Amino acid sequence: MEVYDSIVVGAGIEGSSTAYHLVKNGHHTLLLQQFPLPHSRGSSHGQSRITRMAYGSDDYYTEMMKEAYKLWEVLENESGTTLYKKTGLLVVGKVGDDQIDGTVRALRKYSLPFTSLDGQVLRQKYPMLNYPEDIAGVEDHSGGVLFADKALAAFQGQFVKQGGILRDNEAMVDVSPGDIVTVKTNKGSYRGRNLVLTVGPWATKVLPSLGIHIPLKVLRISVFYWKEKIPGTYGAETFPIFLEDNAIRNFDVYGLPSLEYPGLYKQCLHSGPEIDPDRRDDTDSSWVLDAIKQFAAEHFPLLEAHPAITETCIYTNTPDHDFVLDRHPACRNIIIGAGFSGHGFKLSPVVGKVLSELAMQKISSYNLSYFKIDRFPK
Ligand SMILES: Cc1cc2nc3c(=O)[nH]c(=O)nc-3n(C[C@H](O)[C@H](O)[C@H](O)COP(=O)(O)OP(=O)(O)OC[C@H]3O[C@@H](n4cnc5c(N)ncnc54)[C@H](O)[C@@H]3O)c2cc1C
Repeated sequence: MEVYDSIVVGAGIEGSSTAYHLVKNGHHTLLLQQFPLPHSRGSSHGQSRITRMAYGSDDYYTEMMKEAYKLWEVLENESGTTLYKKTGLLVVGKVGDDQIDGTVRALRKYSLPFTSLDGQVLRQKYPMLNYPEDIAGVEDHSGGVLFADKALAAFQGQFVKQGGILRDNEAMVDVSPGDIVTVKTNKGSYRGRNLVLTVGPWATKVLPSLGIHIPLKVLRISVFYWKEKIPGTYGAETFPIFLEDNAIRNFDVYGLPSLEYPGLYKQCLHSGPEIDPDRRDDTDSSWVLDAIKQFAAEHFPLLEAHPAITETCIYTNTPDHDFVLDRHPACRNIIIGAGFSGHGFKLSPVVGKVLSELAMQKISSYNLSYFKIDRFPK
């Protein structure tokens, strides 16, 4: 039977990027995906994701973002597809809180373009927002929108173009570790020198069967689109990506300007009910709708009171919200990328590079100590 250099299981954004990097480095690679592509049952579907340079407190992500921006540009050129629109990003929060101060510190440290707005200036510059004067803002001018569906298709397209084998509608059902790993699917059997597991929320099912127990929480996120009362008020030409941090209330809120669906502003809670990914819609999340409606009524006076459209997506959170990028502790040729905790899309070009380096036994380009699989108390 043919032996692949690498088998990647899971063609979400992280697995597709990993497979792309592997094939670019000459690895004979198979990418397996359980559902027919494209699908909307994992974490990587939909038209848009936020990107930004500065991570408030964690410089290791800001370091990675510097390369991520460059790699997105490479993929844009290779695929001939626009994947990014610069809109800027506005973070609002209480004066002196961690998110605001941390973002300013990181932007300054990395000499990235930004503007600090005190409460008065915030109100003047963004009259379509409603905040009291003790709420300040910072604009990260490199923030913008990634076109998610197109990015996913671009990674997969380039992977196949360069000789990678992509099999969708085929689920991995069993793994036999060894120097050569055997992967059994519902349709056949494959052998590989390395196995990369990037199975998104299904990590909660796949990893325990390999003796790995990471305390992952799988959350259903409701993606709400709100009609603007005056079209264009929150449009991408006038309004940036928006983040409000949880120092103001006990949850984070983010928003993307009306762009993908004309006249519809996207605004979501950065949380949701815990679910089983195979029974995603079998849970009540009315508290999410109640919270976001209250938020919108208070701070976005020019949106209609009820969302016009609701879509669904899934987060897979680790306790510290850092990713897992590591080898299986006992089976060193099994590589795991998991727990992308609602912020993995923008970093996926670098995640794919890092996971491919682990599979190719190369020295990692980054300090991976933050991403160890065994960092959680047993
Ligand atoms: C609503 C929402 C908004 C977000 N916003 C942002 C943002 O603004 N910026 C940002 O950076 N990130 C954002 N994220 C996070 C980002 O989208 C995720 O971190 C990322 O998509 C995770 O990708 P993944 O490849 O790990 O998972 P997935 O996309 O779920 O991919 C895993 C794949 O593995 C497949 N699979 C599982 N088990 C098997 C098996 N046994 N056999 C074969 N295939 C299998 C699944 O079908 C799936 O396709 C957001 C996420 C959501 C849900």
